[in-house]
Amino acid sequence: MKFADNPNQAAECLRQAIPLMVKYSIPPNPLNYSLWYAYVSNVIPGLNTQMDKALETYGTCPSIISEQMFRDFLIKEEIDNAEDLQTALMAVMGSLENEASSTIQNTEAFNDVLEDSLQALQASHFIDQDENVAGIIEKLTANTQAMSETTKQFQSKIDEAQAEIATLKQELEKSRQDASVDSLTGLFNRRVFDMEFSQIASSQDAKVTLVMIDIDHFKKFNDTYGHLMGDKVLQYVGKMVKELCLPPLLPVRFGGEEFAVLMPGKDTTAAAELAETIRGKIKAIRIKQKKSGEVISSITSSFGVAELIPGETPEACTSRADAALYQAKANGRDQVQVAG
Ligand code: GH3
Ligand code: MG
Ligand code: MG
Repeated sequence: MKFADNPNQAAECLRQAIPLMVKYSIPPNPLNYSLWYAYVSNVIPGLNTQMDKALETYGTCPSIISEQMFRDFLIKEEIDNAEDLQTALMAVMGSLENEASSTIQNTEAFNDVLEDSLQALQASHFIDQDENVAGIIEKLTANTQAMSETTKQFQSKIDEAQAEIATLKQELEKSRQDASVDSLTGLFNRRVFDMEFSQIASSQDAKVTLVMIDIDHFKKFNDTYGHLMGDKVLQYVGKMVKELCLPPLLPVRFGGEEFAVLMPGKDTTAAAELAETIRGKIKAIRIKQKKSGEVISSITSSFGVAELIPGETPEACTSRADAALYQAKANGRDQVQVAG
């Protein structure tokens, strides 16, 4: 354990941690207490470096970063152990399975030997002289077959258990992802957006610009080319936006055919420039229809950009970005509008 404090030292750490948490608008939950306790204890240098960097970039420590740091620095050992345990369990199951199949092979081979011996004895008329020998061999053969059967059942039980472990492992991974990631595009979802935006906005000197993206006439696109093709477009746009908006920018699937990007540290001019780049890339999408060979070349998108005003709520900023987006649509779509 990293923290070998006595009660007085521990109380002192907490006394230092709490004012800092208030200063940086950190929600007072157990995860954050642990993180900030570790921060003021200064026993994990990597944690302090990352925390300082987050404070410098965001003026706070966004919850998604806090959760990541909590996992990386405070519970990594436990998680690694849990994963080691799973791997070890799979390895044991694997070696049991090998044992079982070699036992099956051995018993089957023994069975063959017994049957051959029985035939050989019958052929040599030896059995006529001593019927007991035949009886013994028949009994041995039956027992060996029963043993072989039991081993086969054992192996199928192991197979079942192995499959169950693998499924549980996948489900665990999936439930970790489901809460925050959109399954179609792999981008973070609206829930993460709401959490991050409200946390960034709660910092006094937050500088952040929001870009809302909406694909134009997407209903018509679906009607014309099918929902599956529509899904492919959304996947492609998601991937491209993710590549263009690296951390600390936070691209999310806002819902349906709408995306949003939170851009900490960027003003409207810089954000609008990046929005223009995304607009160009979406417009450049060329999809060929397999059947007809027809090239679809008319996917466009509209953008609304709004910089958070000091003291403004995330909801109010989102409404302004939405209004700008509506303006872009009204002005003929395929353009970026900055909120007034
Ligand atoms: P506008 O230019 O005004 O934005 O028109 P629009 O047709 O894009 O807007 P509208 O809100 O009328 O329709 C949005 C469409 O987006 C309707 C819906 O079928 C489609 N859509 C939403 N989510 C998905 C999805 O996950 N997959 C696919 N393929 N389509 C989706
Ligand atoms: Mg829409
Ligand atoms: Mg649309």
